Amino acid sequence: MVDYPDNAQAEHMVKTQIRSRGIHDAAVLNVMRKLPRHLFISGKSRDVAYGDYPISIGHGQTISQPYIVAYMTQALHLKGDEKVLEIGTGSGYQTAVLATLCKQVYTVEVIDVLLKNAERLLNAFGYTNIKYKHGDGSKGWPEHAPFDRIIVTAAAETIPVALKKQLSDNGILVIPVGDYKRYQDLLVVRKIGDSYQTEESIGCRFVPLMQG
Ligand code: SAH
Repeated sequence: MVDYPDNAQAEHMVKTQIRSRGIHDAAVLNVMRKLPRHLFISGKSRDVAYGDYPISIGHGQTISQPYIVAYMTQALHLKGDEKVLEIGTGSGYQTAVLATLCKQVYTVEVIDVLLKNAERLLNAFGYTNIKYKHGDGSKGWPEHAPFDRIIVTAAAETIPVALKKQLSDNGILVIPVGDYKRYQDLLVVRKIGDSYQTEESIGCRFVPLMQG
């Protein structure tokens, strides 16, 4: 597992934005307390990397707000032995959180330059349990399915059928669904046998999931 030095800004972020709002999964809090979020952001925005909001990463995309990263990760209930599919690599920050808490991450990003930057950074940090794919993640990654967990970090109008199909039994899918121009509901979908149970959780706001 990759370890990082103590990070006062990240600790403050976890205390004031995440723990204070009820996120209690110790493993999630621990990784976010140390992970150097500023290194996933370039230019002037790096100065505000630990702020309580999403930040531009170029190409019309954003790194998610820290609280949202924590909330979605907690909703996945990771124990450490899971195979996780992530749609929307973006900066790679969420990818690093996942890679610390599960066995293997498969991440798909539609903008090649973002994928390459994230891959370079995560390799430099020393992660060896992440596989990267350039393409439309709404189709999932059938060659590696099924996945114990799937997380989508862009707003879908409806849940892509391919993603539901690629969940393993007792698998969990976390995905923002709704109008990308307004707010979305974060849905938590559980596959139980042949059926799916869907729960609405918090409201959120994501950039759109581009579908080909
Ligand atoms: N979780 C990341 C990125 C969030 S922004 C972070 O916090 O940094 C959403 C990302 O989803 C963007 O990088 C965008 O390019 C990507 N994306 C949008 N539609 C996609 C699709 N169909 N397949 C894969 N990635 C997609």
